[in-house]
Amino acid sequence: MVNIYTEKDANLSRLDGKTVGIIGYGSQGHAHALNLYDSGVNVMVGLYEGSPSRENARNAGLTVDSVAEVTKASDVIMVAVPDHVQKDVYRDEIQPNLGPGAALMFAHGFTIHYGFVAPPPSVDVLMIAPKAPGHRMREHFVQEGIGVPCLLAVHQDATGNAKEIGLAYAAGIGCAKAGVLETTFKDETESDLFGEQSVLCGGVTSLINMAFETLVERGYPPEIAYFECLHELKMIVDLIQQGGFNYMRYSVSDTAEYGDLTRGNRVIDENVRSNMHRVLDDIQSGAFAKEWMSECDEGRHNFLRLRQEARTSRIHEVGRGLREIMPWLNPREIE
Ligand code: NAD
Ligand code: MG
Ligand code: MG
Ligand code: MG
Ligand code: MG
Ligand code: MG
Repeated sequence: MVNIYTEKDANLSRLDGKTVGIIGYGSQGHAHALNLYDSGVNVMVGLYEGSPSRENARNAGLTVDSVAEVTKASDVIMVAVPDHVQKDVYRDEIQPNLGPGAALMFAHGFTIHYGFVAPPPSVDVLMIAPKAPGHRMREHFVQEGIGVPCLLAVHQDATGNAKEIGLAYAAGIGCAKAGVLETTFKDETESDLFGEQSVLCGGVTSLINMAFETLVERGYPPEIAYFECLHELKMIVDLIQQGGFNYMRYSVSDTAEYGDLTRGNRVIDENVRSNMHRVLDDIQSGAFAKEWMSECDEGRHNFLRLRQEARTSRIHEVGRGLREIMPWLNPREIE
């Protein structure tokens, strides 16, 4: 069983008199900075000169400076820039300004686990990884006063206080309200990559797309295929989240349940299981991390081409038209 900590285990006052520097103001960075600020923590935001996020952060009342200056001024530094730039930002701006006894924090274990960043032994190195997109985390905090769960891991405990700092930070961003699960950089990194590749992002979009194309190829109207294979998925996932597979199956018709139990594993068969093992092998061996970092170092040509192809695919064209007639979904179109 993993240790699960909540607010009673966390002491926000561990951050009293300390400055927390949030490096980056994107999805995670803005949510961490604003939630900590609202919790009364002394926050600074570190961004490069000319970053469009600078104005957003200032307009929200936050103090903004360069990454180097914020690192110098901070006792706790959260690295919330994209994983693939962390190596360079760390080498050029963070590492030269990192004082002994500082806490260097990450929201995902990628750069530390795969060795792209190797901090000196004089600092604490830990992770608070919220299990939600940053914008959802901020919305929950503001609108409902609730938190999202997060993972805590300590990679290096120079001061002997790393875990307490992590728990205080989790309280400040609201995660301790939901639950802080203790893990390791290895387990967080590898399970996070596997989850997003095989289910959350890669698996689910491939499943939807293949089913959509199958119906369209066999002459069914794309609009009908879109509703069946994509739009309805959220309602099914909500039931699964609320009460597991049992509650979803209880809620759907017996016909749907019989089809599920007899056809599901024909679609997702043992080949898929072995594919998943191979995907996990690449994660564990570091092959995926190496490939992704090289892709970034070499100008991301392959990535940008794949992204463009996906953005202009048939399901996207059909979906855009249908979302227009459902304004209550608050459609967001990325071109
Ligand atoms: P993001 O792309 O949304 O935001 C990145 C921010 O970094 C932007 O403000 C950008 O201007 C800034 N930035 C980019 N290059 C910079 C540089 N060279 N110097 C200074 N600032 C720079 O990133 P994100 O999705 O919030 O990811 C940040 C970290 O959080 C990653 O480690 C990621 O794995 C982790 N994480 C993200 C989510 C999520 O909700 N997106 C969830 C859990 C963990
Ligand atoms: Mg993105
Ligand atoms: Mg994840
Ligand atoms: Mg991830
Ligand atoms: Mg149906
Ligand atoms: Mg039923």
